[in-house]
Amino acid sequence: MCGIVGYIGRKKAAPVILRNLKRLEYRGYDSCGIATLSSGLNIKKDAGRIDEIQKKMKLDNLPGSVGIGHTRWATHGNVSRRNAHPHVDCKKEIAIVHNGIISNYAELREELIKRGHVFESETDSECMAHLIEENYEGGIEKALRAALEKVKGTYALLVLSTHEPDKLLCARNESPLVLGIGIGEMFVGSDVASFLHFTKKAVPLDDGEYAVITEKECAVKEINSGRMLEKEILEITWNEEAAEKEGYEHFMLKEIFEQPQTIINALHVYPQDIRKLAEMIRNSEKVYFAAAGSSLHAALVAEYWFSQLCDKFVVAVDASELMSKGVIDKNTLVIGITQSGETYDTLAAMRHAKNKGARIAAIVNVIGSTATRLADHVVLQGSGIEISVCATKTFTSQLTILMRTAIELAEMLGRDVEKIKSELLETPARVEEVLRLNEEIKKVAVKYFRVKNYIYIGKGINLPSALEGALKLKEITYNHAEGMSGGMLKHGTISLIDRGMKTVAIVPAKGENRTKIISNVQEVKARGGVVIGITSGKPVEQCDVNIVAPECDELISPIVFAPIYQLLAYHTAANLKRDVDKPRALAKSVTVE
Ligand code: GLU
Repeated sequence: MCGIVGYIGRKKAAPVILRNLKRLEYRGYDSCGIATLSSGLNIKKDAGRIDEIQKKMKLDNLPGSVGIGHTRWATHGNVSRRNAHPHVDCKKEIAIVHNGIISNYAELREELIKRGHVFESETDSECMAHLIEENYEGGIEKALRAALEKVKGTYALLVLSTHEPDKLLCARNESPLVLGIGIGEMFVGSDVASFLHFTKKAVPLDDGEYAVITEKECAVKEINSGRMLEKEILEITWNEEAAEKEGYEHFMLKEIFEQPQTIINALHVYPQDIRKLAEMIRNSEKVYFAAAGSSLHAALVAEYWFSQLCDKFVVAVDASELMSKGVIDKNTLVIGITQSGETYDTLAAMRHAKNKGARIAAIVNVIGSTATRLADHVVLQGSGIEISVCATKTFTSQLTILMRTAIELAEMLGRDVEKIKSELLETPARVEEVLRLNEEIKKVAVKYFRVKNYIYIGKGINLPSALEGALKLKEITYNHAEGMSGGMLKHGTISLIDRGMKTVAIVPAKGENRTKIISNVQEVKARGGVVIGITSGKPVEQCDVNIVAPECDELISPIVFAPIYQLLAYHTAANLKRDVDKPRALAKSVTVE
């Protein structure tokens, strides 16, 4: 799930590549490297973060105006200099960077070694350089196609060759790759944000395609046939400034504070697309939401909206499990929810559903991403770039889009949803109020979040809030947290309650779920536990401390509560001096299985 970039033009390539690579660091950050062509191949690479390596070896010093770069998230071979990309062939005439997994690399490698090739790394990727070398008979394009014929697995691949220094080649199968079209210069990246500073014109490649790129043109062709393809150029509306911290200490904090605006965006974007999604749900016998991580939690909230507002049976499924448990046929609708549009498991679930004859839709943030190209119908979130690995604003946007869809369907079914509709329109203002509690939330984090173990409990529509709150905390603080329903607590987990275990209770403003979760709080207190209340309207006196959001309807409370547990996780992580925006072992879009 690394990031790859390429440049060909008149500028010095290395500084452009370095800049664009930094935009992709969210995808992987254990090693990085750049290769450029001048009189021969020039390569610098090492294990470590881009900034560290740049400081140590001045990556941007490499000469030449064509080059490729890689930021790695290791899958095959440990994190080391020799496993860092780019990789080269035996003669050091061909350099490649690769994102994905070559699944038949072991056989390929063995055969190549038998034929005399010498490998320098343990990666699956290196065999690509040797395969191209072996198939080189005077033309790099032909050699690339011949090599790809032998390769199984997933790849986004960039290739440079000293034989044809005026060209950059790339190919894709199930790993993202987008071309950036400039004037007299061309860019390649794993996503559009990587080259946004230089151009807003993008051509996403589809699976089974490759491109031959010169400074003046990009020829996109089919790998199997070599046939030339007509590709549409997308105009990207995101702006680059969004990728700056603007005075915030971390992107995560900036993105948390952007939520009143991103929710407003999600409240207004693409009404027709939402209407069509609601129609598709209405007309389908079975509806699955397939998602992973925070997107799955958004889908779990949506289950409550569709059942309570529309009496519609929809199921949220961990995308990696859909193949095993989904009952999918032509009367089924599978809706993939993926911020990046590149989440491997979600795409696999969507492809599986498509093969079974189901209709597929997607809720996606990144324009031109794979999910947008795979689905029959797409709703874009309009959240702008999210840099921090930990999802915040894109989660509340997904919630907003999902709730609008449920309201739309309820209206189609003739239900009166006026009250909840106007409550939803109030959420940006409510979230704004919650963000004013930032200093208070920080104090609670510093005082109460000092242990290693946490339980988040919620009930009804806030059960997914408990899951998401626990996920935020564990992913960026490395403390253990689990989320569950208040009811589930006594079926095992309550035996863990002691002074070393803190409980976070998510409590709505009123109703049965408030009463029930307060009983759960009492059960925890009776066993000597400490409880932090996240509540709405008024405090829960049984809790040791409360963070009180403005009063709101329980149905919209998952949107209003989100910034509170996001900020609790943020301040705990910042206090522990964790690398908030790039937590260890995680990458933003999980593009491997
Ligand atoms: N499989 C390659 C490696 O381990 C690329 C990994 C990736 O796509 O992140 O180096």
